[in-house]
Amino acid sequence: TTPLTPLALLDTDSLIDDEDRAIRDTVRSFVDDRLRPEIASWYETGEVPVRDLALEFGKLGLLGMHLTGYGCAGTSPTAYGLACLELEAGDSGLRSVVSVQGSLAMYAIWKHGSDEQKDTWLPRMAAGEAIGCFGLTEPDFGSDPGGMRTRAVREGSDWVLTGNKMWITNGTVADVAIVWARTDEASGGRIRGFVVPTDTPGFSAPEIAHKMSLRASVTSELVLDGVRLPGDAVLPEVEGLSGPLSCLTEARFGIVFGALGAARDCLETTIRYVQERQVFGRSLATYQLTQAKLADMSVELGKGMLLALQLGRLKGEGRLQAPAISVGKLNNTREALAIARECRTLLGAAGITLEYPLLRHANNLESVLTYEGTAEVHQLVIGQALTGQSAFR
Ligand code: FAD
Repeated sequence: TTPLTPLALLDTDSLIDDEDRAIRDTVRSFVDDRLRPEIASWYETGEVPVRDLALEFGKLGLLGMHLTGYGCAGTSPTAYGLACLELEAGDSGLRSVVSVQGSLAMYAIWKHGSDEQKDTWLPRMAAGEAIGCFGLTEPDFGSDPGGMRTRAVREGSDWVLTGNKMWITNGTVADVAIVWARTDEASGGRIRGFVVPTDTPGFSAPEIAHKMSLRASVTSELVLDGVRLPGDAVLPEVEGLSGPLSCLTEARFGIVFGALGAARDCLETTIRYVQERQVFGRSLATYQLTQAKLADMSVELGKGMLLALQLGRLKGEGRLQAPAISVGKLNNTREALAIARECRTLLGAAGITLEYPLLRHANNLESVLTYEGTAEVHQLVIGQALTGQSAFR
């Protein structure tokens, strides 16, 4: 019989409308033609041409694609998710560029910004001419961002920002940073978002080296050493932790789909490999142990896809709640990582090289499991939804 691809088993394509499928296919071709030939070398050297890629992503309409106005494409949530899936089939680092730009930096301005902030930044960011980053995490505060130490102090009509942010994607290459800081007592003592042009004196963003994961992505520290901003640099429409969390909810949705792209790439690579590989005189694909592994992985990939498409449907209807996103983020990153590792076993030693994508995806997925809320944090969100009890502290 003619082999089926893992996702064809459940015909999940039939749940996707024509327009979303067309967008998905465009992104898939772009990934195959433009990114796939380069990705192993970007990963190996740890150098990725983010600025060029942003312009290309902008031309394809991928940046802020699910937002409306300001040059954004205004696609369905599912189309955005599928674009994330295809990009992450290339590499999680490439998907991260699109997630951070669209769902974190642009979304923060789009949702919580002033008209002037939107006009200044969003069209250029949608085109990929300006790159944004999103500074929430600090060296001592990751899962618990409410403890942040970065301060915004009012001096006359100005704001002065002081503090350090850590693990910030695209910090070093960004033109604009969305920085979350706690205001001084006299100004309310609440967390506010600030739109910080990265050429402002006192701002610097050294790159973090020696990463074993997301090597095809720029990760940075942000140093805010008395960064003086005009009064209108604050995002006017939100105060408190709900500001950054609203952005994270957007980005997590993309990751629910994205992680499946990495898993699909691993599984497809592995299915091809086991057909060719001979062990003990016959094809590795003919062994029951191999088929059991492939079957279990396809089951998880298919279930993950159904879950992602259901979340896309709920989001499209404006009914998607944060605990449901946690279900998707927890399951799909965890299962994608398990798939990447299991696929690696089927390639034996060949699986540890960059000639195949398995260990690259597995290493990347370690970051994906941790950022945008760790797996444990999502368990706590779901646990709280189920019991009504918060177990965070
Ligand atoms: P910690 O919060 O110190 O967690 C350590 C461990 O403790 C984890 O297992 C965690 O699950 C567990 N834990 C924490 N709280 C609890 C609890 N209440 N109960 C039980 N266990 C708990 N941040 C940004 O702001 N912007 C970015 O662009 C960005 N990009 C990133 C890119 C990469 C490659 C990486 C790796 C991270 C990035 N991050 C970014 C940071 C990321 O969001 C944090 O790493 C994440 O929130 C976890 O924080 P932490 O690393 O400080 O871990």
